[in-house]
Amino acid sequence: MKFPIKTCVICGEEFELRPEKPGFANRCPDCSGDEATSGSQRPSSADERKSTSEMNAARRNAIRDLLYRKDS
Ligand SMILES: [Zn+2]
Repeated sequence: MKFPIKTCVICGEEFELRPEKPGFANRCPDCSGDEATSGSQRPSSADERKSTSEMNAARRNAIRDLLYRKDS
């Protein structure tokens, strides 16, 4: 039986997407295993989202300052 060949988004290696494969469908078994066992490397963590929202807030403040300065 043939399984669809997928490209891992982590390492770029091609792998067979088996139904019983644990982890994400777009990650090879090696990278899925790393994720499951270590748990130390989490992409798009809460910190990342926080810094993004802080960046947006800073940008909003900068624009607001600009507008206020223009008004006065
Ligand atoms: Zn991989």
